[in-house]
Amino acid sequence: MKADALIIGGGLIGITSAHRLAKRGCSVVLVEANEDVGLGANFANGAMLVPSQTMPWNSPGILPTLLRSIVTQNSALRIKPKAIPSLFKWGLQFLKNSKPHLHELHTRRLLELSLFSMDVFEEYYNGYADQFAAKKCGTIKIYRDQPSLEAQIRSNRHLSEVGLDWEALTPDQTVEAEPHLQALAPQLAGGIRFSADVVADSRKFCQILRDDLVASGQIIHVSCQANELLMSGDRVIGARTTIGNIRAKNTILALGANTRKLVAKDARSILVRPVKGYSVTYDTTGVNDLPSHPVIDEGRHVGIVPINGKLRAVGIAEFAGHDDTLSPKIIRQLDRLTKSVYPNLAQTLDGCKREPWTGFRPMSADGLPYIGETSSKGLWVNTGHGHLGWTLATGSAELLADLIMGKPTPLDASSYAVTRSH
Ligand SMILES: Cc1cc2nc3c(=O)[nH]c(=O)nc-3n(C[C@H](O)[C@H](O)[C@H](O)COP(=O)(O)OP(=O)(O)OC[C@H]3O[C@@H](n4cnc5c(N)ncnc54)[C@H](O)[C@@H]3O)c2cc1C
Repeated sequence: MKADALIIGGGLIGITSAHRLAKRGCSVVLVEANEDVGLGANFANGAMLVPSQTMPWNSPGILPTLLRSIVTQNSALRIKPKAIPSLFKWGLQFLKNSKPHLHELHTRRLLELSLFSMDVFEEYYNGYADQFAAKKCGTIKIYRDQPSLEAQIRSNRHLSEVGLDWEALTPDQTVEAEPHLQALAPQLAGGIRFSADVVADSRKFCQILRDDLVASGQIIHVSCQANELLMSGDRVIGARTTIGNIRAKNTILALGANTRKLVAKDARSILVRPVKGYSVTYDTTGVNDLPSHPVIDEGRHVGIVPINGKLRAVGIAEFAGHDDTLSPKIIRQLDRLTKSVYPNLAQTLDGCKREPWTGFRPMSADGLPYIGETSSKGLWVNTGHGHLGWTLATGSAELLADLIMGKPTPLDASSYAVTRSH
């Protein structure tokens, strides 16, 4: 029997899309190339749901930073020369979208989608918080110089109109909020607390949704790769996969940084490139006194997050194509950055086992995800969530489900359409 929906890709976005569709009574089949769901870009990500971070990365004035990053070795932003040819069209659009008015518009749209996502997420929080280590602890951003702090406060004032919840902190208040920052106090210009942000384990979240889908009779094929779309006239009717043809009324591509590989016809409109990120998880099991809040050091582009009784440092944006090599040099850089935020913990962290990891953020050129139908009938996408896939997953999946069901959407879906102008 033909399923209502075939979802290709069992990362955070694919599995959440499957779950929201199944909740509306659709029959779904999900195929995932890896041996399980949730092993892609979310596996050891920053674990933060952060409406506070909804600024696209192409902030005004990004060009000199990009050019410097081609030659600088220790930058948090790196470009491998061999990746440059694949970035031409994407890069031009990335720069075009760094114009102040576009950057502000896209920040607002991301914030709207992230606030909607937090509403949808509430259902999962209420149902399963303990099972995926979800905590409403907020995040703290720290600033080491006054101009950066003031620029962020100015930007936050504009975003308050959309619903961003924030509070500026003096250096003393910052240390009061996270006492482990005491050693850094003399270097702090101040901080900002975002109380509505949440920390949660996205890998466990994927497993919960997987089990829920299977228990309700939906089908998940792991170690199953989709190789080609099946067409009937101009309509997509499923996919040819490594276990045979699977037909469905609707086919949804949620392949993260790989989405373009299956959308030949729309490849020119779907501008998504992999931006490699790194994390190091310190196994702090048994260490009693640890930070209790995620802290983001804005100037050094590193986040340090307590998750599942461990401490995880996350950062780095590297354009390296699909090369998933773990660079020991970058891992050391992340380790140094962590200790620069928590010099008091340096010795403790040196004694901990570390799990380094790298993953690809599926980054669109304008910073917004693609959610909606493509120019091929019956073919939908949900991708391009960049550094915000965990924050935006539930709202994006809900929006997609509304579109597929032909229901009115709670947000203006045209902002995220494949056909939007870049
Ligand atoms: C270092 C790092 C830190 C991050 N921190 C945060 C954070 O703190 N907060 C936040 O909101 N976001 C964060 N993100 C972003 C977030 O994790 C991603 O946006 C999100 O995981 C993307 O999910 P996805 O499902 O689109 O992609 P993926 O996870 O890449 O999933 C795509 C899936 O498709 C499968 N696939 C590919 N091709 C095929 C095929 N042909 N057939 C079948 N299956 C296929 C892949 O195996 C994969 O499982 C971070 C990302 C990184 C890398």
